[in-house]
Parts: sequence; C-alpha cells; structure tokens
Amino acid sequence: MTAGTTARSEPKTALIFGVSGQDGAYLAQLLLGKSYMVHGTSRDREMSSFINLRRLGIFGRVVLHSAVLTDFRSVVEVISRVRPAEIYNLASQASVGLSFDQPVETLNSTISSTINILEAIRFLGLDTRFYSACSSECFGNTETPADESTPFHPRSPYGVGKAAAFWAVANYREAYGLFACSGILFNHESPLRPTRYVTQKIIRGAADIAEGKAEVLELGTLSIARDWGWAPEYVDAMARMLTRDEPEDFVIATGETHRLEDFVAQAFSCFGLDWRRHVSSNPDLLRPSDIAFSVGNPAKAARLLDWRAERRMAEVVAGLVEAELQQRMG
Ligand code: NDP
Repeated sequence: MTAGTTARSEPKTALIFGVSGQDGAYLAQLLLGKSYMVHGTSRDREMSSFINLRRLGIFGRVVLHSAVLTDFRSVVEVISRVRPAEIYNLASQASVGLSFDQPVETLNSTISSTINILEAIRFLGLDTRFYSACSSECFGNTETPADESTPFHPRSPYGVGKAAAFWAVANYREAYGLFACSGILFNHESPLRPTRYVTQKIIRGAADIAEGKAEVLELGTLSIARDWGWAPEYVDAMARMLTRDEPEDFVIATGETHRLEDFVAQAFSCFGLDWRRHVSSNPDLLRPSDIAFSVGNPAKAARLLDWRAERRMAEVVAGLVEAELQQRMG
C-alpha cells in the first residue's frame, strides 16, 4: 500500500517538519483532533524541549524524529520510515530580522529543505501530498491587497528564500505532477511565539511595565502596517489545502491591515497604560530594508477552501494579553 491510499479503517498519517515551532504545534493539535497519526521532526529531538507541544498538552501523542532538512539522506530516511499521506514543511529559519544577519543559513534552510522533500517524494515514488510554508514577505510592499497573481518583490533574505521555495514547489507540480502546494501566509500570532517576534515583545514589554519590572519598551519603526491573524486558524487553512482534488497555492490573510502603532496602543491599553509614555523608537532596531505596508486578499481561500479569518487585530491582541496574564499568574 502506498502513502495516501490508507485503508478506510486506518488513520491517515501526517509528517510535520518543524513540529516544535508555533505552527507545527498547532497543526499537530488540529490533526490529532481529526484522528491522524502525527509524526513530527526537530533538528535534534534529544535536545529540543518541545515546549509548544507540552503547552498544548500533546507531547507524547506525536511520534518525534530527528531530521536535518539540508541533508537529503536525513530527509529520505524519515520520509521512507513514516511513508506519510501528507507532509507539511514548517521548518526553517523563520525570523525576517535574523535573516539579515544569517542570509546564507536562511536561504539554505528554506530552499534546500523544500527541494529535498520534493525530491524525496519523487525518489521514493510516493503519492504523498505536500504543503510548503510560503510567506507574505515574498510580496514586499503591497499597494493593493495581494492575491495569488500578485508579483513577488521580497525585501529580505527571508523573503528571497521563500520566493525561491515557492517556485520550486510550482515547478515540481508542473514538471512531475506532484500534489504540492504553497500557502502564502500573512503574519499570524499566538501565545506560542517567542519574544524575538515584535508582537510578543510588545505584549511581554507592556506586561513588565504594568508590573513595575520595566519602564520603557524599545522598538524599531512604529509606522509599518501588517495583516495580523491568529495562528490556530491559519493551520486549519494548511490542512484544507491538502484535501482538495487539485493542488493549488493560496493566500491566507485577514484582508485587514493595521499600523504597528495601533497594535502597540491596543496592547498597552489592555494593561491600563498609555503607550506614548513608555515606548521609544531605537534606530538600531531598524532593518536594512523593510516592508512598509502589507495586506492580503484571502478571497480565493474563502471561495475554494471555505476558510475565513475570524480573529482580527483587536482580538489577536486580546488573545495574546489574556494568555500572558494567565502565564504570569502560574
Ligand atoms: P517557528 O520559528 O516557530 O518554527 C520553525 C521551526 O523550524 C523551529 O521550531 C525549528 O525547529 C525549525 N528551524 C529553526 N531554524 C531552522 C533552521 N535554520 N533550519 C532548519 N530548521 C529550523 O516558525 P512558525 O511556526 O511561526 O512558522 C512556520 C513556518 O511558516 C516557517 O517556515 C515560517 O517561515 C512560515 N511562516 C510563518 C508566518 C508566521 O507569521 N508565523 C508567516 C508566514 C510564513 P527545531 O529547532 O526543533 O529544529
């Protein structure tokens, strides 16, 4: 029996590369809820704490493997052992800011990983369905809401890598008929995000100031605008893409954009604080090039996946604040 042709009574098997991250943990939770057998990888399963799986209470329900995606042997080995019906690649150096300091590692981890998985599926002759995590960073600045036909103009090494991976997926789909698709996801947040990301930095910074542990929060520019959604909803869109008859790429977004300043104001007001008294802009935190304005058009996802973002920026902030308060109360 080949992957993807499991007997009716057997659970489907999914393999999630990058299961320790934010999206990996939420996707594992979603698929377990659909009775999938879920396997997941980390670069070193013995060293990873899998803190996100533990926070969601699903550590122990995911079969864990070590896999290094830039090493073809490692990729083939885990895929041939699991022979999954579905593969999700969510592993990569995922910080836009860090990509300016580690451009080669960022490009390698994004491009080689994608091609290694595509080649492994071909090499092993599987009919596995493949989801690849693409990003709105490929678009750069969006004059109007970006959809699946909007040209790419990335403004970071991270975006360049994601754009190359996007075209690799499209090429393998066209050249070899693989069921492979990219989700072009706009920013999506959750309590599982580490503080490196600006949204969590804002929430934790405001919480520290409210508790008297700090007085000032330093940020880069506040004028950028982003389309922020809620991560658990976005992993649902990924899973829906692999249930379609034909593989296609989808933009996943709320369709609304807000300035970072509005996000900051909203977060600080949840703690009863006036952000103008506590937030300063530090030019050292500015990126060499950044996206000023970013918004997506999720109409195709609504039409073909029956998917819509429920939580918008205000609800995203409220959800992050609530989780932070719960975490601090123990
Ligand atoms: P995370 O950073 O939370 O998780 C990514 C995982 O990739 C990590 O847990 C880590 O696993 C692995 N990883 C980190 N660095 C490298 C590296 N250099 N080489 C190989 N693997 C690495 O990311 P998210 O869950 O937020 O995002 C999932 C995917 O979706 C990523 O590809 C990201 O770029 C993309 N994306 C995310 C968006 C968002 O807003 N969250 C928006 C658009 C796209 P381990 O240490 O266990 O090996």
